[in-house]
Amino acid sequence: MQTRIDKRFLTCMYCPNLCLDRCPVVAATGDITYAPFAKMSLAGLLDSGLVFADRTNALVVYQCIACMACTEYCEHNVDVADALLNTRQELVKKGITGIDRTLFDEDQDLLDSRLKKGFPAQWFEPGLQGVLMPGRAMLRGPFSQMHALTGVLSRLRIQYLEVAAVSAMSTGYDLYAAGFLDDFKSLSRAMYARLRKYKIVVTPSPVVEYTLKVLYTLFNTGSGPQVRSLTEVIKPLVLAEKNKNPLHLRMAFHDCSFAGRYLGRYEEPRQILAHLASIKPLELRRTRENAMSCGFGGGFQRLFPDEALRAAMEVLKLARDAGAQVLVTEAPECYDLLGKAARKLRSNVRVRLLFDLVYQWLKQNR
Ligand code: SF4
Repeated sequence: MQTRIDKRFLTCMYCPNLCLDRCPVVAATGDITYAPFAKMSLAGLLDSGLVFADRTNALVVYQCIACMACTEYCEHNVDVADALLNTRQELVKKGITGIDRTLFDEDQDLLDSRLKKGFPAQWFEPGLQGVLMPGRAMLRGPFSQMHALTGVLSRLRIQYLEVAAVSAMSTGYDLYAAGFLDDFKSLSRAMYARLRKYKIVVTPSPVVEYTLKVLYTLFNTGSGPQVRSLTEVIKPLVLAEKNKNPLHLRMAFHDCSFAGRYLGRYEEPRQILAHLASIKPLELRRTRENAMSCGFGGGFQRLFPDEALRAAMEVLKLARDAGAQVLVTEAPECYDLLGKAARKLRSNVRVRLLFDLVYQWLKQNR
């Protein structure tokens, strides 16, 4: 009997490891067992039944941040993240991974209370056409960021957004990425039902944006709200403001994989930064389509927090090498990891969120 191996796995099996230096997991761990070529070869063998699936080799398939850097580089356009995700789903179905599903449960009471503390009461007035979804990374982060977010929206007179109970709920990306597909489908249906009453959802998180815009539409029918990133919403309003007092900072921009490779947004944040500082931001050696992941994605941070932190430290080193004083990101998820990496490295490079800089500029510019 002939054994069939899926073409995506086979392509990598015959590849001389070309995308090795693209992989942030290899950079973070120094272990080429986790190179895309090796993970795909193992996944192909597991998938075809040629290798017995146990917990040890199942977990190798989880050593992927789903950042798509290898796919961007690949001559054959192999979607490694998607192929590994399919393998994860199969392994979860068979109960082989040993990954505890509750690892992806949120402390909802904590998120609810942080939402209430972080957003002034007037933001909870119901009846507006849009809702703000800050995302769990932002809700777990410093209150100063929530203050900056509401400050930017108020100063730019964006008045169609409210905050509601749904704003503190997880959209479940990590659950999906870890292969718990049925749980993710149920969660997405429940969330979609809650969000349908709105015409528009605005989020500072490219992870939330991708989950709502792309993943939810895979498992939900009928029309849902329009989903927009905070960056897109504020860009025309920021550029319309005369720059009387530019920020004097040497800034470099870190492209989040979700905003960049997943959603194709590279120019808008750079245009905002160029406007704030009256000069284009510095570019990292790995930038735009070739940007290096900070370690967030694919459920990697929850499963392997130390390795994720090391990936973020690699990005910080790129910022240092570029001569940046400030490394800017639009994603609260990247901000969290890069900030931890900066503290760990005792780096002189400060990490800032894009909208936080916009808030600083708006205050000093008027
Ligand atoms: S993703 Fe492309 S470049 Fe990377 S190992 Fe597979 S075939 Fe080679």
